[in-house]
Amino acid sequence: MKKSKKFIIIESDDILLTIHYQAFKNNYWEVEEMKVLVMNCGSSSLKYQLINMENEEVLAIGLAERIGIDGSVVKHETTGKQKVTIEEAMVDHKAAIKIVLEALVHNEYGAIASMDEIGAVGHRVVHGGEKFASSVVINDEILKAIEECSDLAPLHNPANLMGINACQEILPNVPMVGVFDTAFHQTMPEASYMYALPYELYEKHAVRRYGFHGTSHKYVSAKAAEMLGKSIEELKIVTCHLGNGASIAAVKNGQSIDTSMGLTPLEGLVMGTRCGDIDPAIIAFWMEKENITIAEATNVMNKKSGVLGLSGVSSDFRDIEGAAAEGNKRAQLALDVYYQRVKKYIGAYAAEMGGIDAVVFTAGLGENSATARKAICEDLEFLGMKIDDAKNDVRGKQVVVSTDDSTVKVLLIPTNEELVIARDTKTLVG
Ligand code: ADP
Repeated sequence: MKKSKKFIIIESDDILLTIHYQAFKNNYWEVEEMKVLVMNCGSSSLKYQLINMENEEVLAIGLAERIGIDGSVVKHETTGKQKVTIEEAMVDHKAAIKIVLEALVHNEYGAIASMDEIGAVGHRVVHGGEKFASSVVINDEILKAIEECSDLAPLHNPANLMGINACQEILPNVPMVGVFDTAFHQTMPEASYMYALPYELYEKHAVRRYGFHGTSHKYVSAKAAEMLGKSIEELKIVTCHLGNGASIAAVKNGQSIDTSMGLTPLEGLVMGTRCGDIDPAIIAFWMEKENITIAEATNVMNKKSGVLGLSGVSSDFRDIEGAAAEGNKRAQLALDVYYQRVKKYIGAYAAEMGGIDAVVFTAGLGENSATARKAICEDLEFLGMKIDDAKNDVRGKQVVVSTDDSTVKVLLIPTNEELVIARDTKTLVG
């Protein structure tokens, strides 16, 4: 049996039957084969992956950069083919998506014969507020609701919406799904998500903790349960997503019960350029001392703080680890502050969950830095967490890095947010 977007052709020795696909899909069988395009749109960039959901194989992957700016470029790679760089003006997201789609169907470096093969598009949406506790098929009402959440993520949601609108214009008959960074954390109890501010601030402006990186925390916690051969419903897991942006979550019985990011992705851990938790009174003090505006202070806290601000070296952990190894004291200080913050949260989440069964490290630093994993786990032996140096000397693999007698398992699990988006999309559309 062959399947195409329009027809199903059933062949046997004595029968050749062609059935209109849509009728077939709606009335008879579930469609098994689906190719999902995953889109992650930023304000001037767009990351994409085309995934074959039959075997979850990545067919193509790419990135459009400098959208709306001089020098825009798409870097595209179809699995098993030469990587290509397409330099072409892209005035907006629609122009960029057109170039991406042309690349996907290109006869030399493309991945599919026609756009008809794209069964659905899954969009990453950063902020779903309290409206979205799970992924949804996008329609006009949903678009409006996402727009209403833009207040809470002014840098991210408008860019996500631009991507959705552009895709809808170019692929009007293809279903679109929104997958929210905040959704997984909607299970947090009130005690975790409320700030001790006047309650009216929550009622009037939805000021509360939301948490981010939900697709990553969801993926790695489920993988951890799989690796431990246990049901996630009986596990207490701390997931550490340590990338440029970093957050940590307490996942109890499969549900996020607390996480370090808050109303915005600025709260919590120290990050590449973000400060994470600080005394909020610092802002007024600093504005008065240096006569700066709130916009300037916010910019510094988001873009010039974290390990970059502390070290003065870089926001990239490879540079900082290198500088620290050469004796740069501020680089070492940045790492020490970073490690201590993660450790503090692990301890706090152990207390909140009444113990821990596993700690998972993921994302750029978590997957690649044995030094960071070791430094964070050091002194946590009292919780039953023991790193095995030989096992920990590894990068980017799905492995247990704790000793056999460690009662808390320490796991390294490469995250795959795109796959979560593609799976949710398939489930909702298929
Ligand atoms: P994001 O998706 O938030 O941009 P990533 O998950 O890609 O971030 O992580 C990027 C971070 O991972 C960078 O700060 C980089 O320094 C760090 N990183 C990547 N590889 C290594 C490595 N081999 N050693 C230490 N840090 C690394």
